[in-house]
Amino acid sequence: MTAASGNAGDQGRRMRPCPICSKLSTQADYPFCSDRCAKIDLHRWMVEGYSIPAVETDDVDDEAEGGEDR
Ligand SMILES: [Zn+2]
Repeated sequence: MTAASGNAGDQGRRMRPCPICSKLSTQADYPFCSDRCAKIDLHRWMVEGYSIPAVETDDVDDEAEGGEDR
């Protein structure tokens, strides 16, 4: 039983897979594998951030149900 789990990494941080493409992340673009994926993630955040409805459905018709949009 060892208290420290995992291997004593060569680097301080654990390498995580890139959330965009699941490749190993690099220190330069952590937690992404590249600047490109970092931008993709940032773009996603912006798009999703804008699309988050600020509770606009206060008195919407029931006809809206049946769609897959949330
Ligand atoms: Zn990536």
